Amino acid sequence: MNRCVLRLLAALLFVTVLASAQEDPPIAPEDRIENWTNKTVLVFTPHPDDDTFLCGGTMAILAKNKNNVIVVIYTNDDKGSLDLEMTSERLARIRKAEEEKACEILGVPKENIHWLGYEDGNLEYADPQRLRGEAARFIKQYRPDAIFTIDPGSEHERWHKTDHRMAAFITQDAFIAAEWHLYYPQHLLVDGLKPYRVPVAYYYYTTEPNYTVDLSAAGVWEKKADACAAHVSQFEPSLSKYTPEMSAAAKKEVVSFFEEHSRDGDRFVERFRRLVEP
Ligand SMILES: [Zn+2]
Repeated sequence: MNRCVLRLLAALLFVTVLASAQEDPPIAPEDRIENWTNKTVLVFTPHPDDDTFLCGGTMAILAKNKNNVIVVIYTNDDKGSLDLEMTSERLARIRKAEEEKACEILGVPKENIHWLGYEDGNLEYADPQRLRGEAARFIKQYRPDAIFTIDPGSEHERWHKTDHRMAAFITQDAFIAAEWHLYYPQHLLVDGLKPYRVPVAYYYYTTEPNYTVDLSAAGVWEKKADACAAHVSQFEPSLSKYTPEMSAAAKKEVVSFFEEHSRDGDRFVERFRRLVEP
């Protein structure tokens, strides 16, 4: 994430939280994420940080309550550095380690992270049919109770960069491909993966939130803040001149940013657009 994207993220988070002034439609207790246990949740993310920044608190709650949280990351994020000494190979390694650290803080083991390994900024230039098949395979394999992914809604297309646009649409298209066995028939014929209909999606980076996750439970916000700060190379000064550690002052700034954009009255929240049978 570069500085420009950080500004855009700020704008979007601000819109999302502002929209929280509207009341969510009523939700049955069994549909409250905070009450889930022993469920499987699949999180699709274009880069190894969008999941932390937008769903980190929710992931921490799910992991704490013994749900199986699986993360699928489309790109290796190997382009987003302003450090002229940085190479793509090194940056990909750094970003992988940072994501694994962030997930560990949130309670998600690195064995649960799947890297598709596409080049940062180039997801739209990958073969879409192959990409959709990869996403559909994960859905059929894990048969998740819920999926978290980028909102493909039109508001977002105005600013989302290539990987965000592509990840949003590919994941959405994979819902259909996972449901109908004649898409990618080899999944069933060769690997025995039966078709699967995604029951509910929670879209992040949304401008139409209708579902709020309260991060007030003990330790949840602290985990999210630490996980965000684990993405050291995404923030200054490490963005411009890589250093593996974040100073206390820099961490304070990062945490303040997320506090400011997650605050809803006297609590911190994450907001999603929830859609049943997406
Ligand atoms: Zn991103």
